Amino acid sequence: MTETTPAAVRVRFCPSPTGNPHVGMIRTALFNWAFARHHGGTFVFRIEDTDSARDSEESYQALVDALRWLGLDWDEGPEVGGPFGPYRQSERLEIYADVARRLAEGGYAYPCYCTPDELAGRREAALAAGRTPGYDGHCRDLSADQIAAFAAEGRTPALRFRMPDTDFTWDDAVRGPLHVGADHVPDFVLVRGNGEPLYTLVNPVDDALMQITHVLRGEDLLSSTPRQLALYDALRAIGVTDRPTPQFGHLPYVMGEGNRKLSKRDPESSLGMYVAQGYLPEGLVNYLALLGWSIGEDREFFSKEEMAEHFDISRVTPNPARFDLKKCTAIDGDWIRHLSEAEVAARLVPYLQGEGLLSEPPTAEQERLLGEVVPLIHTRMDTLGQAAPMIAFLFTDDAAFTVDPADAAKVLGEGSGEVLAAARSSLAAIPEWSTPAIEAGLRGALIDGLGLKPKVAFGPVRVAVSGRRVSPPLFESLELLGRDRTLARLDAALAG
Ligand code: GLU
Ligand code: ZN
Repeated sequence: MTETTPAAVRVRFCPSPTGNPHVGMIRTALFNWAFARHHGGTFVFRIEDTDSARDSEESYQALVDALRWLGLDWDEGPEVGGPFGPYRQSERLEIYADVARRLAEGGYAYPCYCTPDELAGRREAALAAGRTPGYDGHCRDLSADQIAAFAAEGRTPALRFRMPDTDFTWDDAVRGPLHVGADHVPDFVLVRGNGEPLYTLVNPVDDALMQITHVLRGEDLLSSTPRQLALYDALRAIGVTDRPTPQFGHLPYVMGEGNRKLSKRDPESSLGMYVAQGYLPEGLVNYLALLGWSIGEDREFFSKEEMAEHFDISRVTPNPARFDLKKCTAIDGDWIRHLSEAEVAARLVPYLQGEGLLSEPPTAEQERLLGEVVPLIHTRMDTLGQAAPMIAFLFTDDAAFTVDPADAAKVLGEGSGEVLAAARSSLAAIPEWSTPAIEAGLRGALIDGLGLKPKVAFGPVRVAVSGRRVSPPLFESLELLGRDRTLARLDAALAG
């Protein structure tokens, strides 16, 4: 109760729709969501799609789907609207053009006629002379004649922000007090020569217009903060906003293998991989919450609602977080075991449909089998994806059923014929088709009768019937499969 809650927290998640959603991005979304929910504030979802060459509709849709799948509901944004819309920057170009014009009129920005070649040439000269490279202020104070001469050459100017000659200090919500010297931040481009506004302009303009109070984002964006602080002052000066500059908080880097930053190209970075492999959204969200934050000593299992309840931005660590796929998978397994058997079965339905194992909707027989097999595998799986190969044998027509060739090579080789034949005749003869009767029959025939060790005895039966060496418990599996299907598969293995 000692914590003070700012009046009306407004945070934003504002990805660019380029490529596929990745875990770094989702961690940012999650921390913003939790912060908003903790403070009873507003979570704004904004699409930063002003780079027409790189943005795609497909990627936009993937972002929307990602937040939905994760259960990170947004209060304002695409598809839900809100008082500060539109929330796709490609629909706000007039706003940016207007602000750009006002910045230029107020002297906060100026036309820069330098060509890329000229900039590169001067940059090299600066480096050679041992000076810091970066824009040198060349066009800061062009005379009307100079401007007319450039225009006559047909040059179209970029709009460049005039950085004030001051140092920047801010109290970062994660990293504490930070300081950047004036000479480290050269004047920067807001609008390209072709009229395209850049991130440098549109991001703070929208933060201002959307009345964002806190900017929580990845550490990779730290270097843009001094520019945004300066731009914010200018936006206030020209009357675009009368709000205070948001508080910034930079979330720690996420490190992958080999002590380097997790890259968008790493497979474990892609949200699509988790969906395809049947991770639960609860599991992934829980794991991502641990990348820079903790709910308390020794506690690693919690829901996003619990995260929101306890989330305190000042307890986010500035130290790099290590991404550990094994741990992520283990936490997913904890979530699977936390769900009831009925719930796991319900989650498996769409997953198995995606794998082509269940019809849409499932038949009554498929529902029954699924309901009975889940208790057998509930503690043996960390993802829904791990269940699929283990239980596929139940949902595959006998005609389409195949045995994993590698597993067949290991246990269905020489000598297995005798085992399978003995198993078949005992199973054909048992009086009732139940797990205890199946067990008694197989033990009698293979262990007592043939004198085999259990592993040698049951391995061939398991592979012949379930197709794999890893299956749910054998006797229960056979009971579920039924006598006819079991015998048919033993026959097929004997014939093969
Ligand atoms: N569109 C920017 C990005 O995806 C947003 C950065 C920010 O949060 O300021 O990197
Ligand atoms: Zn210039």
